[in-house]
Amino acid sequence: MCKVIAIANQKGGVAKTTTAMNLGIGLANKGHKVLLIDNDPQGSLSICMGYKDPDSLELTIVDVIEKIVNEEDIPEGFAIMHHSENVDLLPSNIGLSAAEVSLVNVMSRELVLRDYVEQIKDQYSYIIIDCMPSLGVMTVNALACADTCLIPCAAAFLPVKGLQALLKTIYTVKRRLNSKLEIEGILLTMVDKRTNYAKEIIAEVNEVYGKSLRVLPTEIPLSIRASETSAMSKSIYEYDPKGRVASAYSELTDFVADNS
Ligand code: ADP
Ligand code: MG
Repeated sequence: MCKVIAIANQKGGVAKTTTAMNLGIGLANKGHKVLLIDNDPQGSLSICMGYKDPDSLELTIVDVIEKIVNEEDIPEGFAIMHHSENVDLLPSNIGLSAAEVSLVNVMSRELVLRDYVEQIKDQYSYIIIDCMPSLGVMTVNALACADTCLIPCAAAFLPVKGLQALLKTIYTVKRRLNSKLEIEGILLTMVDKRTNYAKEIIAEVNEVYGKSLRVLPTEIPLSIRASETSAMSKSIYEYDPKGRVASAYSELTDFVADNS
């Protein structure tokens, strides 16, 4: 069985991409076969995974979308890259912006990614989709094919307002397109426990959402080492294995694996 997890929050800079990469590699380290899908035209996940110039990549998610829309066969391994820490990556680049716009004229435009995922999911135990910072068609595509949605939330600014719009989208997708969709939980990221502000935000998130949603028990600490990994093409487990962020992501990985 394959579990598909969409990592979404329309706010940028809340550690979606960092979480996608370190959860994906965390699951791979536990022996699972993992595909990471970069679903953001900024290609940040592709960059973090070592493809520093994603716009020069020959094949990306854009080509996959094109094939699905044209109802063409997708050859095995099409557009998939392999990272040395044992995960596969479907990369993305700026072309996804235009592809997203052109989907407007496509029938069942919200289900294009699901078509693809259905074709490849028997090859993986986990597929993790790193969403772009918007609630547009491609994010809806990710939610429409996901089993769960993981919501990273930076404890650095007030996240409560933005979450309402995301939750509304999730519930609409669940009602109309994907009844199996569940919320994996809210993951607090960039937590600086030394500040009262972080503590206030955590208290507020728990107060507002704690009853209706799961606020995950793991919190990802704020750490310079974590921010440095983006440029290193490696996970936090390789870059700073003894650090607090590595152990937090490893704890998150255990939680997600146990919850599957
Ligand atoms: P998003 O995908 O939501 O836009 P990113 O994962 O790209 O967010 O993270 C935004 C920035 O914050 C990046 O520069 C990243 O390296 C940094 N970052 C991520 N996690 C942490 C952390 N735990 N501590 C400090 N910086 C972090
Ligand atoms: Mg990102």
